[in-house]
Amino acid sequence: MSKVVILRCDSYDYEKVRAVVIKAVDLLGGPGIFITSGEKILLKPNLLSADSPEKCVTTHPMVFRAVADVFQRAGAILSYGDSPAFQSPGSVARKTGIAEVANQMSIELADFVNGEEVSFPQAIQNKRLTIAKGVLEAEGVISIAKLKTHGFAKMTGAIKNQFGCIPGTLKGEFHVKLPDIESFANMLVDINRYIKPRLYVMDGIMAMEGNGPRGGRPFNMKIVLLSTDPVALDATVCRIVNLEPQYVPTIVAGHRAGLGTYLEDDIELLGDPLESFTSSDFNVKREPLISYKPRKTLNMLRNAIVPKPVIDTDKCIKCGICVKMCPVIPKAVNWQDDNRDKPPRHMYKNCIRCFCCQELCPESAIDLKVPIIRKILLRK
Ligand code: SF4
Ligand code: SF4
Repeated sequence: MSKVVILRCDSYDYEKVRAVVIKAVDLLGGPGIFITSGEKILLKPNLLSADSPEKCVTTHPMVFRAVADVFQRAGAILSYGDSPAFQSPGSVARKTGIAEVANQMSIELADFVNGEEVSFPQAIQNKRLTIAKGVLEAEGVISIAKLKTHGFAKMTGAIKNQFGCIPGTLKGEFHVKLPDIESFANMLVDINRYIKPRLYVMDGIMAMEGNGPRGGRPFNMKIVLLSTDPVALDATVCRIVNLEPQYVPTIVAGHRAGLGTYLEDDIELLGDPLESFTSSDFNVKREPLISYKPRKTLNMLRNAIVPKPVIDTDKCIKCGICVKMCPVIPKAVNWQDDNRDKPPRHMYKNCIRCFCCQELCPESAIDLKVPIIRKILLRK
């Protein structure tokens, strides 16, 4: 049985968060189950982009602080880090409030800029991976994810949090090499199976719904979850938001690879009752994912069924982040006639539907539009 702890926490008041994290770790056996005194442990929060904590894009600094406090008191020598989508780890850590907490607690920022190639023969998708040096230098990892919706993967949670262990621009290359979601999910599972975080913590006190993982709306879910099984943890979150776990590719891939289980009967829930959190009004796409292997002959079919990113020109501030982050060559979203005074435009025939543009738009100006044929097909 995999154990998942669910505890209510209604605000980021530090003493409340700390009490919840202490209780949750104790329900799993206490900090000594996860670390021994003197070990070098890396804390891996979600630092997607330089946004303030109120935007709910990144792990809240009070959750980071509470987890750090529990394991620092147990004798761990802590470091922390993540590889943001396009800014430096240090600048994102400062803007998100994590750096301030880390500095107060003398927790060093690990090297997430440079990576080393490692061999992982048991991998399903990637037998060679480039992992951030800061991860490899640690003896153990504790993952501290944020509960959010995600355009490409539906939900971003415990499993997907480790994508940030791939340094810098290499992450974008994965979208080009593995444009179909099944392969991409297998790669995310490979990263988790290689790194083997000892504990997965999820900050869902203020989650993100809708146009996540950067442009969605805060949702006061009042929840903190902990588990050693990221598949069970993510599946439990799905049950809370009334989403079938089997519709989330990382959960299916993780279950298949033996990273964990999504089966309800194989998950023991501890803490507060799951029913007291269920939120059917949480805005997430609940229909099945339709995947495709991009080949020229399938492009028409793909365009007919897979959602496409569309720019709301009224919201666009012409920052160019979508253009910069589009990983394909030639760019599938670009300036019109090189004119930066007009919003960029999508060229769907080049687009691999990785949704990096939607993921990183700072103004929530890119939405995913579901093609009409797909709406008809999914109508019950
Ligand atoms: S990232 Fe968003 S705001 Fe910036 S140019 Fe693209 S659509 Fe406009
Ligand atoms: S336009 Fe957006 S969804 Fe399409 S390939 Fe570029 S970043 Fe990915």
